[in-house]
Parts: sequence; structure tokens; C-alpha cells
Amino acid sequence: MRRVYFDNNASTPLLPEVFEAMRPYFSERFGNASSIHHHGQETRAAVERARESVAELLKCRAAEIVFTSGGTEADNLALFGLAGPGDHVITSTIEHHAVMNACKHLETEGCEVTWIPVDGKGQVDPGDVWRALRPNTKLISIMMANNETGVLQPVAEIGKIAAEADVYFHTDAVQAAGKVGVDVKQIGCDLLSLSGHKIHGPQGVGVLYVRKGTILHPMIYGGRHERSRRAGTENVAGIVGMGKAAELARVALERGDLNEMAALRDRIERTILRAVEATGVNGEGAPRIPNTTNIYFDYIEGEALVIALDLKGLAVSTGAACSSGAIEPSHVLTAMGLPPERARASLRFSLGKQNTAEEVDFALGLVPETVARLRELSPVYNKAAVGS
Ligand code: PLP
Repeated sequence: MRRVYFDNNASTPLLPEVFEAMRPYFSERFGNASSIHHHGQETRAAVERARESVAELLKCRAAEIVFTSGGTEADNLALFGLAGPGDHVITSTIEHHAVMNACKHLETEGCEVTWIPVDGKGQVDPGDVWRALRPNTKLISIMMANNETGVLQPVAEIGKIAAEADVYFHTDAVQAAGKVGVDVKQIGCDLLSLSGHKIHGPQGVGVLYVRKGTILHPMIYGGRHERSRRAGTENVAGIVGMGKAAELARVALERGDLNEMAALRDRIERTILRAVEATGVNGEGAPRIPNTTNIYFDYIEGEALVIALDLKGLAVSTGAACSSGAIEPSHVLTAMGLPPERARASLRFSLGKQNTAEEVDFALGLVPETVARLRELSPVYNKAAVGS
């Protein structure tokens, strides 16, 4: 059966070049990167090359890159590394669970958290961030691009506010990296998270950019790996994969490859909105990363549509993979003011480098008929009312 994968915000396939770069570090190049002999030097050099490559993507120094086990750990390290009881943290209502639940935990430990709302397009107003500042504000954590809608946040403006107020600024750039330019100086952030498997690298590896001079408490104690910021023998193969993926992401961005992806995404939107009534784009009108669209299909249960499309070979999702199966509607879409039924009726299509125009045709051939069939079964769907 033919399978088309449009759920790249959940995870992307490893590029063959990335796999090839990683392969030796699963076999003959097995040394511990902390060992001083030849085997250790070999893997140490590979880790440091990967660090350089990630630094080039973010336009920072290699020494400012900390490798972690993924985006979740990077987010947690930023928050727990800086904030604690008595501190005040500013975040938004649309963050990924990796930030949101870390902030909720900080609240239980006596840290105050202000949750900044978003407008109907899914964007934070930097003015709200400014107004939320308090004398004890330690950290602002606002994501660069939302994983469900792809909406970009005004991070450079928030960076300026943070700098003026002398407050640390962390941004979760897990979904932005490789899709738009990510320049830590332009953003003005002190900390920034990345994840390997969202940029066609491996799962289980991530990065926290930590601006030089930032005092960050480690979450894991042990050896003096990663400049004592993240103890534990390095995941060399994963780190090498992350480095290669970062290099390929940078080259693709510089070449303008993402314009093609944006055109495919736009065609998905236009065609669905034209062919299927009672639909719309969540986050329309806001600046968005080029690979993502989030579309509501009123009178449909999103999970039912995901399953029906999967049975026909098309993989999409209702939002964050870690929330799949949840009964609650998406916290991101409800924060944007969508009623719960519309939030539950929303589907995310997210493209990757491997997707082709022909795959888009395949998907567009499936979606309208599948929606029509599900709506026929829906007791709340009243065609006449929709058409009028
Ligand atoms: N932040 C965002 C915005 C994400 O989309 C994800 C993954 O879905 C993460 C953090 C977590 O990254 P990881 O899966 O590498 O832990």
C-alpha cells in the first residue's frame, strides 16, 4: 500500500547522508569521547565537528552549544537551570508541553509564572511580555515557531525587551530550525533549544544554545561533560547525526529550497479550502514556517479523520504527537480562541524535505472525499445550514 507522510513536525525521516555520517560511530569508532587514547580522540573530534556545525547554523560560538538528549531536555535545562523558588518566569499559553509542564512544575516549587495569551492568529503580543515584567522576573521563555500551527512569534522584539530589562530569554526553536533562519544574535536570546529529529537528524539528541557567561545549574550531575552543563558520556552517533543534519539544513536554507516547500504547503491550503466547505486555516495571516498548515474541518472529529486518512495511506495528525489520543482539545488552538469543537476538528499537515508535488496530489485526492464521507455519517452536519 502506498504511504505518504505529512507529519514531519512530529518527526522527520533521517536523511541518507545523515545516516552515512553516523554509521561508523555505531561500529568501528566506538571510543569514549573523554578517553585520551586514539579511540577517544577520534570520537572527541567528531563531537567537536558536530558542535561547530550546529554553531554555524545558529551563528554562535561552538563553545555555546550543549548537546542534550532532545528538545525536551534542552527546554527543561533552560528552565530548571535558571529559575527556582522566588523567581518569576514569563511564558506563553501555546508552548510545547516540554516548556509548559516544566513551568507548571516550577509553579509547584514556589516560582511564579505569568502565562501570556495569544491573539486569534496565534501570536504573542510583545507588549504583554513587557507589561508582565516584575522586579523578580528571571526568565522569559517564548517559542520561536509553534509546532501545531507553524505560527512564528515576534522573538526578536521579545529579545530586545528581555535585554532592556536585563532578564534571560529562552526560545524553543525546535520547529523553526531548518525552516527559517535562526540567528541567536538577531533574536537576542540567551538560550535556544533544538531537536535532531525535527531537522531530518536522529531522535534522542538535541541542543541547548547557552550564551557565553550564562550561569546555568545542571540537571544531571556526573562527569564534567559539556562544560559541566550536562553530565554523561556523549551520544556520539546521535551528536554526529545532529551535526550533519544541521549542516544540511543550513545549506538547504541558503539555497532557498524551502520556497518550494512553501509552495506545496500553499497548494494544500488553497485546494482544500476551495474543495471542502466549512474549512479554514488556523493561524492564517500570521507569519508561519513554510512547511506547516493547520486546517479546521467543521463537523468532523479530527481523530476520526486522521484514522480514515491513515487507512488510505496518508499520515497527518491532530497536533502534537505526544497529545495524540488526548480527549482534551489542543491547548494551542483553544488559546487562539477556537471553540473546543473546532479545535477538535483541526488537522495538521506538515511537510519535510522528502515530500514531492506528486505526494501532494495524492493527499489532495484523498482529503475532500474522506471529509465528505465522514460528514455524511455526522449527525451534527447539516449541509443546508453550511451552504446558506
Ligand atoms: N519543542 C517543540 C516545539 C516540539 O515540537 C517538540 C517535539 O515535538 C519538542 C520541543 C520536544 O523535542 P524532543 O521530541 O526532541 O524531545
